Amino acid sequence: MNHVTTYHDTRGADGSHPTFSDVVIAGIAPGGGLYVPDALPSLTLDEILAYTPWPYWQRAADIFVRFDVDVDAERIGALMRDAYGSQWSDPRIAPVTEVVAGTHVLELWHGPTSAFKDMALQCMPLFFSEAIAAKQAAGTLAEDFLVLVATSGDTGKAALDGFADRHHTGIVVFYPAEGVSDIQRKQMVTQRGENVGVFGVRGNFDDCQNAVKAAFGDEAFARELREGHRLLLSSANSINWGRLLPQIAYYVSAYADLVASGGVAPGRPMDVCVPTGNFGNILGAYYAKRMGVPIGRLICASNENKVLADFIATGVYDISERDFVTTPSPSMDILISSNLERQLYELTRDPARTAEWMASLRADGRFTVNRETFHHVREHFAADSVTNDESLACIRRVWDEHGYLLDPHSAVAWEVAERLRGENPVLVVSTAHWAKFGTDVYRALRGVEHAAELPAEVVSLSGVELLAEVERMAPAGACVPRALAELDEAAERFTGVVDAGKGGVEGAIREWLARD
Ligand SMILES: *Cc1c(COP(=O)(O)O)cnc(C)c1O
Repeated sequence: MNHVTTYHDTRGADGSHPTFSDVVIAGIAPGGGLYVPDALPSLTLDEILAYTPWPYWQRAADIFVRFDVDVDAERIGALMRDAYGSQWSDPRIAPVTEVVAGTHVLELWHGPTSAFKDMALQCMPLFFSEAIAAKQAAGTLAEDFLVLVATSGDTGKAALDGFADRHHTGIVVFYPAEGVSDIQRKQMVTQRGENVGVFGVRGNFDDCQNAVKAAFGDEAFARELREGHRLLLSSANSINWGRLLPQIAYYVSAYADLVASGGVAPGRPMDVCVPTGNFGNILGAYYAKRMGVPIGRLICASNENKVLADFIATGVYDISERDFVTTPSPSMDILISSNLERQLYELTRDPARTAEWMASLRADGRFTVNRETFHHVREHFAADSVTNDESLACIRRVWDEHGYLLDPHSAVAWEVAERLRGENPVLVVSTAHWAKFGTDVYRALRGVEHAAELPAEVVSLSGVELLAEVERMAPAGACVPRALAELDEAAERFTGVVDAGKGGVEGAIREWLARD
């Protein structure tokens, strides 16, 4: 390890020049800003195309090494072999499939939980654990970390799987007892691992999230964990730089694959179209572009919660009078898109201005970027939004016309890519296996609207039985991943349900810490 990249934050509060390991452990900067690297590496076309014969783990390791991550190169390689190994259902990890001439799907759902969050969460916990071990060895840290997650369904499972049995870490996930699907609940409560815990919270996702936030803010509880259990709390959420860096790698990888398959001429641009919620995935594409990957437009695809599409159209980010809408693509049902702050900072490199916009968002629910920044936004980004029923109709149409089954999130991207496509080949980013969202895929194939009731005999099926039904309807292209198909038989390890509020969550954690 010679040179290491250091980081600063989007609001200019942290002048301590932390390293990658420091920012992975810290998560958010003091003052609420997000960490960004002081410098970006660049890749030549030849360097990108050299990826072609490499396995995915080596591609990801190369990106980390180029970012001068403060872990030695050999060790990075070993961790990446572990992160992107045999737990993936496709040895290519993030394969690119040409579905129709000029439209290529980047499949980010071959991981153990069948959705995109695995791309980061199979990797980040390894570096998190590594960073803790290094600091403990250096004598600068005495504690292990307990990761707390409030989940509306999918992130919880991906985090559980990523942190399971990772040294120096524990993870406890809270889900709204009334708010997750049968499949999502079973995925979580059957999680293996000695350091994991899962609890339902009586109430909806907001109740659940507020209770976990309250536990994070409770200093007496933090002291109790530190003094009684040598544990510090962490959230490992999607603003952590350790989750973003792995998301740059698959865009570099995809370009190499696209050239190799003849989908794009070497050096010619591809457009990417990303179903967007917290702006983490599309931000990975932006960084890849800055580093030299020939990417034309970054197309942001929104569902009916279209605050981002409106921002890219107008330069005004406004949630002051915007209602939260329920859609078939719940992982994009977001009003505050937390990684947008990083994007705005990268376009301006102006911490004072970035901090001002974020303060205005907190105070008034809106901010307007200046003309020059808006110009930069328009230089890189295009956007559109898709209604609930348009996304279901898209699933049906792509299945009928191309025999390819999309999940509702990926369908939002497909639909927007079709509307906005220009001359460049398009990489449609697919973020979930269809079977993760089987009920709405069933609606789509049956032509049932999103808001309509399903027949009683369908409602009474378990999640897994419904997936088997979809498999029968779409026999050639619909194979349920094994881990999902076996869920009805798997033993449920975690049955606890606690009251909403700080007391419920803290009580659950105490109970979990006292387990055998
Ligand atoms: C998290 C998620 C998204 C949104 O990704 P962001 O990085 O938050 O923009 C889209 N689709 C699925 C299935 C997801 O899990």
